Amino acid sequence: MTKLISRDNLKKLISKVLTSFQVIAPVNENNVSFFKRISVYEQIKWEDNNPTKSPKEFFFAPSDDLFRYQMKNKNILLREPSNHHDQRIILGIRPCDMAALNILDRVFLEDGKDLLYSALRDNTLLIGQSCRTPGKYCFCSSVGINPDDSQNMDLMLTDIEKNLFLVKVVSEKGEKFFSHFSSFFQEADATNGHTPVQTKEMVDYLKRGALFNVQNINEWLNENFEHPIWSEIAAKCIGCGVCTFFCPTCHCFDISDENVVYRDSSFQGVRRRIWDSCSFDHFTKMPMHQPRPTQDRRFRQRIMHKFKYFIDRFQQGACVGCGRCRSLCPVGIDIIEVLERIHCLSYQSHGVK
Ligand code: SF4
Ligand code: SF4
Repeated sequence: MTKLISRDNLKKLISKVLTSFQVIAPVNENNVSFFKRISVYEQIKWEDNNPTKSPKEFFFAPSDDLFRYQMKNKNILLREPSNHHDQRIILGIRPCDMAALNILDRVFLEDGKDLLYSALRDNTLLIGQSCRTPGKYCFCSSVGINPDDSQNMDLMLTDIEKNLFLVKVVSEKGEKFFSHFSSFFQEADATNGHTPVQTKEMVDYLKRGALFNVQNINEWLNENFEHPIWSEIAAKCIGCGVCTFFCPTCHCFDISDENVVYRDSSFQGVRRRIWDSCSFDHFTKMPMHQPRPTQDRRFRQRIMHKFKYFIDRFQQGACVGCGRCRSLCPVGIDIIEVLERIHCLSYQSHGVK
């Protein structure tokens, strides 16, 4: 089902839903764009590309309390967090970040359901937005994502005129939302040719096609766990973890307990899940063994996880081409250069020059 909404009506709609939903939308503060819970429509910053920070943290926070515990007189009391049940709308998610959420779903909802993540997913309506122009670092089309892909969204907005959006109602949840607020929308006349606004840059970006072949990368990785390329590429890496923390698909975490022990030996504390990064030297370190003692092995892990292990396990890669790691790496390590290089090596290994 496709409808139209004017920018004025979108403003009225969001102002109305703010009275009963939490609304999370792109904002820009001090020249940094990110998703944030807003209190008025005017806080939203409609920019052409995805914000520097993805909405990942609204489903998988940098630090999540899993439960609190207390032990007194040999009695153990467990308390689960209870603050994750508000109805929410996330507005302005781009197709790459939506695809990333789909990847997190594989991790947190398959093979055992993560209750925290699942509750947050269930309570959230996702209103996406298609891209009219590619960002400088974007390469979604190289990993099979389309800039106007509405998959997994509940509703998707597409700019068709300066102050008019085409609204695609995608899911059942989206349909319910639409029927509740239908007075804000107008009919889309199928014969009227509502054409999405696309910049010349987007036309060129789509024409350019894929920069590498994911299948070739995967096959090359299968055979080249040990290869000199890893130490060459990772020589500059300082292990800061920026690439993984800003990545909308990276999901590694550590678990830690924070305890207070009293004189009578009773204690209380909290068990937390905290983001971790394969770029850190302590990642998966064991008391008697460090499985990845050097930075090149940690860097290799990042590429292997996205383009081999995840594909082996879920038949899809774990990179959505958002370009954040390319734009933010402080020493200029560019995942596209890495993948293009592997792509060439894969051809050479098959005797193609
Ligand atoms: S690896 Fe880089 S380009 Fe790919 S999804 Fe993560 S941050 Fe985006
Ligand atoms: S952002 Fe760059 S320097 Fe930092 S860990 Fe990632 S690849 Fe290494």
